[in-house]
Amino acid sequence: MTHLGTSLIHADDKDNRVSDVAPPINVSTTYRYDETDLIPWRERENLDFMEKKPVYSRLAHPNATRLESLFSEILEGHAVIYSSGCAAFYAAMVHYNPKKIFMGQCYHGLRAIANIMTRNYGVEQYTLDDIEKYAQEGDIVEVESPMNPYGTSIDIKSIAEKAHSKGAIVLVDSTFAPPPLQYAWDLGADVVLHSATKYFGGHSDLLSGVIVVKDEEVCKKLRDDRIYLGTNVGNLESYMLLRSLRSYELRILKQSENATKVVEFLNLNKERFDKVLKEVYHSSLQKEAFVKKQLVGGYGPVFSMSLQTIDQCKKFPGKLKYFHHATSLGGVESLVEWRAMTDPYIDQTLIRVSIGVENADDLIKDLETALQELHNGA
Ligand SMILES: *Cc1c(COP(=O)(O)O)cnc(C)c1O
Repeated sequence: MTHLGTSLIHADDKDNRVSDVAPPINVSTTYRYDETDLIPWRERENLDFMEKKPVYSRLAHPNATRLESLFSEILEGHAVIYSSGCAAFYAAMVHYNPKKIFMGQCYHGLRAIANIMTRNYGVEQYTLDDIEKYAQEGDIVEVESPMNPYGTSIDIKSIAEKAHSKGAIVLVDSTFAPPPLQYAWDLGADVVLHSATKYFGGHSDLLSGVIVVKDEEVCKKLRDDRIYLGTNVGNLESYMLLRSLRSYELRILKQSENATKVVEFLNLNKERFDKVLKEVYHSSLQKEAFVKKQLVGGYGPVFSMSLQTIDQCKKFPGKLKYFHHATSLGGVESLVEWRAMTDPYIDQTLIRVSIGVENADDLIKDLETALQELHNGA
């Protein structure tokens, strides 16, 4: 098999339409029909044609097609691209149409989508502890690991085994640790979801999401539904995401390594700042044996810490030089967020940290200075 770094540059070579080395930006929503190939829609046997000869950009467009070739290769399945991670999750819900959905700690937006499903269609919601008791054939078990916002891991394999014994479908949200950090298929996933807004995009300038399945028929149905849900990725975003993916492996490995160094520093020096720093959360600090087996390529670039008071959470971001105070994660620039700003379901003293590709020692120094100032003032 081709290695990740090579696939990121070449998996979409087969989709070249022009001689340009860098793929062109295609802003057109509509494409001229080929006068020598006039086949009416009702005579089409399948929708594959629109990837070779685009018709209308809500259906397929050249750089989105390239993205699907690339993601299908690096994520080892059939990839379907969307306008955001939330749109991707919603598409999976529409396709699988579960009666029950089982979720643990997860991205608040996915919980909000489940709430819409409950409101409109009476979908029942349960926790991951309820799988053995209530799960049935065709239900969805949504597993997010590492978890947003903590950056800690749960045992995907053991949850997947429980779900499969009941005939439920396991959807793994692997946004926090895409390959080469974690390989969700090896852990029992039936469907893999990534918010491509995060590490694949990597520059905090585009929204996108991807669903990956092993069954080609399911992939075709998802692509067909997407035409009418209107959730294909945008033209310009698809160009930008393709460009970002070329350097993805370099970024994720550096970000993950940086984060592990920063977490190690904070954990070793916790006592020095004990009037501020209450707890640090990250997969690298977990002792359970499954964590190392899941995160084969690194512990991931996001971690969280709880501070002693809400007031400290408000002041801390303003004391940092290199961390923007903003939501989201996965970009080349480091971010901190007082998580209460966007997540209604979370510990109100939690600070989420997303580590970028800056020098780790500079980031450590920055955090150390801010924590020391708050500690001295407490
Ligand atoms: C951001 C995020 C999503 C949602 O992705 P969007 O692209 O913002 O819609 C889903 N899951 C996780 C774990 C995320 O961090």
